[in-house]
Parts: sequence; structure tokens; C-alpha cells
Amino acid sequence: MILKAYAKINLSLDIVGKRDDGYHLLEMIMQTVELHDEVILTERTSGISLSCDKAYVPVDERNIAYKAAKLIMEASGLTSGIHIHINKNIPVAAGLAGGSTDAAAVLKGMNAMFSLGLSHEELKALGLKLGADVPYCLEGGTALCEGVGERITKLKSFGGHVVVLVKPPFGVSTKDAYGAFNLEKIKRHVETEKLMDSLAKDDLNGVHYYSRNLLENVVIQSYPVIKSIKQRVVKTGARVTLMSGSGPTVYGIYENKETAVRALDELRKNGNEVILTETV
Ligand code: ATP
Repeated sequence: MILKAYAKINLSLDIVGKRDDGYHLLEMIMQTVELHDEVILTERTSGISLSCDKAYVPVDERNIAYKAAKLIMEASGLTSGIHIHINKNIPVAAGLAGGSTDAAAVLKGMNAMFSLGLSHEELKALGLKLGADVPYCLEGGTALCEGVGERITKLKSFGGHVVVLVKPPFGVSTKDAYGAFNLEKIKRHVETEKLMDSLAKDDLNGVHYYSRNLLENVVIQSYPVIKSIKQRVVKTGARVTLMSGSGPTVYGIYENKETAVRALDELRKNGNEVILTETV
């Protein structure tokens, strides 16, 4: 079975509280982009094995796709085994939910492949055990994600917009980004309702005005280059620009493909990986 595991960008990321167990309470608008990994599932007699076309991705229990297979096997009592192959196109540790989307694909794929009969809600509950972004990745599209990532409200699609992803040549640990964040210092939160209105109207000026990521300033303190990448993305004509998730990827949303294509060479400077994609 071959699955497409799509990346996401954050149109917003707000941190609205912290639970006693240390988890941050979030309010995020997430958006799927066309960029995807390919996840290939093959049945084997027993056990779990994993391979990946990129040497820098772990292929043992540390891989979140491996963890997803283990979890769904335990939850369903499945006795057959699985081989997972990942063709990795999504940059790693980039704020694009690269690992989470592979895990979601494994959950969805194995449920269908072995007719396990788990409901969408049950898959989401398993996904949440793996990571805050996994339930959203099971859903996809344009969505408001709240709580620790478990409350998902589908929104009118903001699909069909041209996006350029700019990933500088380093990764950011999600844990470190949240660790450096101080909720008490936040004076102004994201105006999520207004952003939702702008998205529903396809109003790029409004999206530009209201899209915000509260982790951006925190991550910029450690990696100031993110700020200059944002400025360059604006200069190349992007209508909206923001850091996605815990970074370091910065994206630009462009009015049309021609402007975006013209921006690629300029943004590729300084070792950045640059990917042209679109919202779906
Ligand atoms: P998020 O946006 O959900 O925070 P991310 O894009 O920042 O995700 P990932 O690409 O998921 O981060 O990678 C984070 C870490 O997880 C990396 O250090 C990587 O080695 C490890 N990892 C485990 N499984 C995977 C996988 N299937 N794909 C990519 N990275 C993985």
C-alpha cells in the first residue's frame, strides 16, 4: 500500500495556557501543503521493520512511524507484521510535521490494510499518544487545532495558494522551542477569529495581518537568520510570510506561481533548501 503523507504549515500558532503536566495548551490554524513523503506499507509475517531513502532519518524504534505501527498493533491485537519504507521529501526538524504525518499515514494505512476496524476517533486517540500534530495529520486540510492538539475543527478550505518553503541549513528541536517560551511575557495573543474570517474570505491582506506564530520571536532569539529570511521572502513579493511550527522553516504565500518561481533563486542563497508547493 502506498500512501502520501502531506506536510503542514501553521497559519497561526498561539499558546494559551499550560497544563499541570507541563503540556502547552495551543490554538493553531494548520494548513496542508502538497509536499509529501511517500509511505509504503508491505505485510510481513511478524514484527516491524523500517527503511528510508535518506540516511539521516532513524530507522529503528526512534522513528515515529515505527512507534505508530507498534501502537496500532498493540491496540488491535494484530499478529501479522509490517515493513514500512519512507521516501522522505519533507525536511526534517523543520516545523512541517514531517514525522507526525508519516505516523498518521501508518495508522490510517494499517487500519485499512488489515481491516482493523478502528474508528476515526480511535485513530486520533492513538495518534495523540504519539504527538500533538498527529491527530491533525489524520484529518488534513485547513483546520483549527486546540487543546494539546486533540480538538480539531475543520475550516473552509484555504487550498490553491502558491507557497514557497524556505528551510535554513539547520534544524530546531520542538522541545527546545517550547522550553524557551515564557507565557507570562505574552501581552498580545493571536486574533484567531479574525484570521479565520480572513481565510474564509480568501483575503490575503487579512491573512497577512492576522497570521502570527508566538514561537517565532523565541526561535529568532537563538537563530536571528530566520528574521532576515522573512524579510527576504517579503522582498520577493510574498503576500503572507511566517515561520511554521517551531521552525526554522519560513514560508511565503504568493499571489501567483510566476512570482513564486522568480523568488526561488534569491531564497536559495546561504544554503537554504527551497521548495515550491501549494496549499491543499
Ligand atoms: P513538528 O512540526 O511536528 O514539530 P518537525 O518537522 O519539527 O515536526 P520532524 O521532521 O518530525 O520535526 O523531526 C523531528 C525529529 O524526529 C528529528 O530529529 C528526526 O530524527 C526524528 N524522527 C523520527 N521519526 C521521523 C520521521 N518519520 N521523519 C522525520 N523525522 C523523524
